[in-house]
Amino acid sequence: MQDRSAIKKRVQELVDQYAPKAIDLARDILAHPETGFREFRTATVVGEFFDYLGLPHRDSLAMTGVRADLTGGAPGPRVAVMGELDSLIVPGHPFADPNTQFAHACGHHTQIGSMLAAAAALADPDVRESLHGNVAFMAVPAEEYIELEYRQTLVEQGKLEFMGGKAELVKLGVFDDIDITMLTHSSTNAAEGKIAYGSINNGAIAKEARFIGVQAHAGSAPHRGVNALQAATLAMAAINANRETFQDQDSIRVHPIITHGGDVVNAVPANVRMEMFVRGRNLDAIADADRKVERALKAGALAVGAKVELSTYAAYLPMTLNEELLEIFRRNAEIVVGKNEVHRAGPRGSSTDMGDLTHLLPTIQPYATGCTGTVHGADFLVEDYQAAVANPAAAMALTVIDLLAEGGEARSVIDNFQPALTKNAYLALQRSFNRRQLFDGGAA
Ligand SMILES: [Zn+2]
Ligand SMILES: [Zn+2]
Repeated sequence: MQDRSAIKKRVQELVDQYAPKAIDLARDILAHPETGFREFRTATVVGEFFDYLGLPHRDSLAMTGVRADLTGGAPGPRVAVMGELDSLIVPGHPFADPNTQFAHACGHHTQIGSMLAAAAALADPDVRESLHGNVAFMAVPAEEYIELEYRQTLVEQGKLEFMGGKAELVKLGVFDDIDITMLTHSSTNAAEGKIAYGSINNGAIAKEARFIGVQAHAGSAPHRGVNALQAATLAMAAINANRETFQDQDSIRVHPIITHGGDVVNAVPANVRMEMFVRGRNLDAIADADRKVERALKAGALAVGAKVELSTYAAYLPMTLNEELLEIFRRNAEIVVGKNEVHRAGPRGSSTDMGDLTHLLPTIQPYATGCTGTVHGADFLVEDYQAAVANPAAAMALTVIDLLAEGGEARSVIDNFQPALTKNAYLALQRSFNRRQLFDGGAA
């Protein structure tokens, strides 16, 4: 094909052409939500779309991940365009599965749509031939770091080592031959224009606390029991008492839930389980907050003489920014939605395993709007599928062209990138977060 601008024009036409099919597929995933490491149907739908495009793919990566590979007309670097497979659990969401309450309230179904629309455009024979490099299209499991007990059973069964999708894929070597990655997440923040870029996310660790008391008749013999629910509520109060020590610049978030509050109402609860995240802008700040959280959890057990079993797991690393890659994306986003609709995004208190990838290879996670309501809330809805699926598909596909066309910028992005961690150092760091201890407040 001719010059780069002609290729890019063709890519935009192809995205427009395939967008209705990709949007239909996103809506189908919306109607069949599956949480992380359970996305078997979603993965099948993605695989069928790759088949339709004639792209060879590998399935069942980290249980449900799918990766298709597109070979360009000449050798060169390999860029990954990604989307995330998993839903949340949101009772009351209008598209929640009535049996499981699984629901797409983070817009991951639109990510899959945009990744596939980009794949359809780049797989066009003329476009493919123009690439001096290769593209991997990846549907990635389990970005939402939830259902820790379920995922621990998968770990114990040897099906996983890590409880987040991308860490597991890194361990499995799925990113070993990837040079650059990108994923566009949905957004409800219309104030940031149709496409926003350059936000940073918190890192996080995940914790489980299992308070162990002594069960006894709640009416006739509470004095013979040790109340694990009282221990847990005291622990939460103690966590809250530490919040004034968290510093604004560290962006600390600590948010526990009780996943099991007791077994029968007529007995002193002896088995109470909590899950929580400790999030922050950097690992030192997270470690500082984590020390206070552990103190608070032990304090709850100590106050009533209960035991608490504390488990800590690696979650996600704080996001870092690749300005060179963001700039290439920004340029192309402006082609798609116009200069006035592309904004620099503000920092997010949330966490994502895209943050992990930013430590390993040039990686960006821009945002596309089209959604309304509250992220992770029952009112989160995609109002404008063109904005949520087609716009980011075009922006990513055009970015791939700028990276991999003859004389493209991928080589510069790769050469200028200084990884904060090697793969082995990353895996060692992730493993170093994992620990378990038992504190006996009765014996203390
Ligand atoms: Zn989310
Ligand atoms: Zn998300």
